[in-house]
Amino acid sequence: MPLASPLFCKRTIDVSFEDTPVAHHSSEATAMNLPESVSSGGSRCDVEAPIHVDPNEPRNERVDLKRIEAAVRVILDAVGENPDREGLLETPARVARMYAEMFAGLHSDPGRHLAKVFTEQYDEIVLVRDISFCSMCEHHLLPFTGRAHIAYLPSGKVVGLSKLARVVEEVARRPQVQERLTQTVADLIEDRLSARGVAVVVESTHSCMTMRGVRKPGSMCLTSAMRGTFRTDSKSRAEVLNLINRHTTG
Ligand SMILES: [Zn+2]
Repeated sequence: MPLASPLFCKRTIDVSFEDTPVAHHSSEATAMNLPESVSSGGSRCDVEAPIHVDPNEPRNERVDLKRIEAAVRVILDAVGENPDREGLLETPARVARMYAEMFAGLHSDPGRHLAKVFTEQYDEIVLVRDISFCSMCEHHLLPFTGRAHIAYLPSGKVVGLSKLARVVEEVARRPQVQERLTQTVADLIEDRLSARGVAVVVESTHSCMTMRGVRKPGSMCLTSAMRGTFRTDSKSRAEVLNLINRHTTG
């Protein structure tokens, strides 16, 4: 599979296509074109970027900011820094807010985004490609960033396309491993939409591999989860993988 190149974190989702059923999106069997903000990289994973306030985004009320601040001070001290020097004074509070944001999906149910469905007699593949995400590797607490491609075969019910992106966004906002992220998204769609088939392909770059350890910049990790027809029928699986590969950006 051609792999997408420089990957950036997307922290907001354009709501202009909120709740739009797939049938309105494409005359083809697949919905390939997402609004710019979802289909291509936006802002970098930069903690200084303005935080988009969206009432639909989960709030992690259980994050104890003060304890994180204290822990960050200890880490700075432990590496031989002076947490009280001017440049570091506000760092603990900033890091605490960043963790609250990165782990905002920890105590929420991403499946709630799939609760509102539309009845459609459409039984071909629905595909949303290039859903960018930024998650946190649970082994090193370093980000991994990439794109998810989601396809499903409806059984009389379709969901607004932006909801698939919201599911990815929320599942990513936890301490994660890519394999689990991929499977969780597939299971949610299969379960909540009663989809006849689900295919999720995720490609991403892991900071813990590129900036430390073996230090292999440019290495990509690819994972997939197939459910239902896409798992049992090799022709359907080949078809959906071909669609995911087609016009791959990057
Ligand atoms: Zn890691």
